[in-house]
Amino acid sequence: MKFIGAHVSAAGGVENAPLNASKIGATGFALFTKNQRQWVAPPLTGKSIDAFKKNCDEFGYTPAQILPHDSYLINLGNPDKEALEKSRNAFFDEMLRCQQLSLDRLNFHPGSHLKKISEEECLKLIAESINMALERTQGVTAVIENTAGQGSNLGFTFEQIAFIIDLVEDKSRVGVCIDTCHAFAAGYDISTPEAFEKTFLHFDKVIGFKYLKGMHLNDSKKDLGSRVDRHENLGKGTLGLEPFQLIMSDSRFDGIPLILETPDDSLWPKEIKMLNEMQG
Ligand SMILES: [Zn+2]
Ligand SMILES: [Zn+2]
Repeated sequence: MKFIGAHVSAAGGVENAPLNASKIGATGFALFTKNQRQWVAPPLTGKSIDAFKKNCDEFGYTPAQILPHDSYLINLGNPDKEALEKSRNAFFDEMLRCQQLSLDRLNFHPGSHLKKISEEECLKLIAESINMALERTQGVTAVIENTAGQGSNLGFTFEQIAFIIDLVEDKSRVGVCIDTCHAFAAGYDISTPEAFEKTFLHFDKVIGFKYLKGMHLNDSKKDLGSRVDRHENLGKGTLGLEPFQLIMSDSRFDGIPLILETPDDSLWPKEIKMLNEMQG
């Protein structure tokens, strides 16, 4: 069973996200549980939490179909002590929000070294940040997203992600989300059946499919290995439709949220329908 959806709006309250997902024919969705461009947000109200749970029940969304995303401001590998503390507090708050909503995973970008510390030092800070958040929360898995490797962002190789996971104490609450656009931009070819198989064989060897807790399905505006993160609608970019066909017919991608973050959201109903048809 594949859960296919998009990163939908939660404007007006988190309880609106399942409604917005249902409207586009999605069987899964992603959302921000707070404004993603602000450091602090008022806590979720009991009313909003109850309405979110009720709407998820009503439209048939279980936690395995939902992939919350944290704020873009957070850098869990920030070399600056104060900035790191700010990020860690914000991340804890994001994890707590997921816990309050009875969600079981939170997707985040690992972090950036800002050219001030080594990659290894930064990866260690990220792992330490994850350990701190896991210690203070329950039932929520920290889901590391692979990046395109733009700027000083880490997590663009499977080895970097495996290095972080290795340092996480509670392995039952750490996972991975693979973004197809980011993987391709980072240099992992998935555009042909042979390249796709090779990349995911490597993924399985270095990280392991048991850690895969979600996927972002995006075509890419930029070329293989460009290290530039620019999403494109499916079939309109450098990836083409092939990798999405391969994912949809591969049982290794069953049972996790498969989320569109493509730029033209008016195409989402069509893209979701197309992905469903690719399942055969
Ligand atoms: Zn993504
Ligand atoms: Zn991206």
